Amino acid sequence: MSTVKTREAWEAMASSLAIKGQAFINGHYCDAISGETFASISPIDGKVLAQVASCDQADVDLAVQVARESVESGVWKDAPPARRKKVLLRFAELILQHAEELALLETLDMGKPIKYSLKGDVPATARAISWTAEAIDKIYDELAPTPANQIGMITREPMGVVAAIVPWNFPLIMAAWKLAPALATGNSVILKPSEKSPLSAIRLAAIAQEAGIPDGVFNVLPGYGHTAGQALALHMDVDCLVFTGSTGVAKQLMIYAGQSNMKRVWLEAGGKSPNIVFADAPDLDRAAVEAASAIAFNQGEVCTAGTRLLVEASIKDQFVVKVVDALKKWQPGHPLEPKTNCGAIVDQAQLERIIHYIEAGKQEGADLAVGGQQVLQETGGCFVEPTVFNNVNNQMTIATEEIFGPVLSVIPFHDAEEAIAIANDSIYGLAAAVWTADINKAHKTAKALRAGSVWINHYDGGDMTAPFGGFKQSGNGRDKSLHAFDKYTEIKATWLELS
Ligand code: NAD
Repeated sequence: MSTVKTREAWEAMASSLAIKGQAFINGHYCDAISGETFASISPIDGKVLAQVASCDQADVDLAVQVARESVESGVWKDAPPARRKKVLLRFAELILQHAEELALLETLDMGKPIKYSLKGDVPATARAISWTAEAIDKIYDELAPTPANQIGMITREPMGVVAAIVPWNFPLIMAAWKLAPALATGNSVILKPSEKSPLSAIRLAAIAQEAGIPDGVFNVLPGYGHTAGQALALHMDVDCLVFTGSTGVAKQLMIYAGQSNMKRVWLEAGGKSPNIVFADAPDLDRAAVEAASAIAFNQGEVCTAGTRLLVEASIKDQFVVKVVDALKKWQPGHPLEPKTNCGAIVDQAQLERIIHYIEAGKQEGADLAVGGQQVLQETGGCFVEPTVFNNVNNQMTIATEEIFGPVLSVIPFHDAEEAIAIANDSIYGLAAAVWTADINKAHKTAKALRAGSVWINHYDGGDMTAPFGGFKQSGNGRDKSLHAFDKYTEIKATWLELS
């Protein structure tokens, strides 16, 4: 029977953890060529966890060169699919074997509760890799419908060198959604984690090597600010750039690709997801509980967070009371405490950004229903209360801009048509939810919503079998499922004329 580790046990483990901050290039941990580092600071208490290599153009050039050499050698690209599958399955297994260490790094580095790191992030990371690995030897190429004297072969080939730039909110999972299909399809990868949460990706590199991924095929380049990411995006020898992060940076990456070698660019960007609750929802209590977790899980630092709660006017006030009540179990606590549901905000800058939006909500006339305060200042960490604004207008700043914190905007509507119009009135189109017992209304509304994922009578569903990505300025391409393979392969048509 597994026992739940206490906060003291996690703290003891943390104090004996040897945390690595180096880059990983060609199978070795190494300092940045410049010798520069930056401090990785825990948002739990403001303590420095490690000095991390601050990679720049020189390190990027080296990593791209070794990745290119590994592509040319065929050591991974040309390995039998069954071999790549075996190595990636081993990689997933080893991740699970190191679950506690990886979960602890994730929690210390970005502040999410340990129970979610351990039971959510790490297993989901392993699952993304194993699910994708299982597909490697089950995907076939195509033959074109030709006349008898011709053969038209349609084959998929790996892109070559893939750069993956990822954010800090789910550092391991976001990395796995990129590196699993990239490696599965035979590419060599350079992973650039966020400067706010680089530690788990750095650790992952050694685990990948232990699993049997050849040197040069998987490299990790931490860097401060935009330097390493920009150098990768502008590099003439990177074939494909995959990104998860903000819409502003995503747009910049498209420009960099155009300014360099027209590398393929696949973007998973921001969101402002509507969660639409009709008065005839089958279970309003459950809808309220899920509306609360949709805004408070991962401290609201979720691209699909249900930030705009659209509620039919006839039930709005009673529903807001239920949501406020459900948020009681999401009060911020120490992330290493096993019962904590809501942890620390990733850093001081993000905390200030959230407070700035809370002030904007008040100034623009929204009604603060609950929360709104920074808390637990005595810890030296970054914590904020889950916050609900009632009677929000969809044009207010808190309803239009991505906050990336636990701040909910409640917006009333009167019928399905109005709900759809408000929901779609956003530059984003990542996800949406609809709560109704009327199957016709559910389908019609889901169909009309301009979003990459729509959930009916629940929030945030799906698994590795469902593609994930955005409409509009939430991005292009899809992570997860077999659709993810499209991003990492070029299609070749080879036409043969029989004599
Ligand atoms: P961000 O855009 O600030 O940074 C993302 C990554 O890009 C980081 O690694 C960062 O170092 C790097 N970067 C920053 N500037 C760069 C530049 N000029 N050139 C190259 N690289 C650069 O985003 P963030 O704050 O780390 O993450 C939060 C954002 O991520 C939110 O907008 C959220 O919605 C989005 N997100 C989207 C998804 C999705 O699947 N659609 C999932 C998770 C997070």
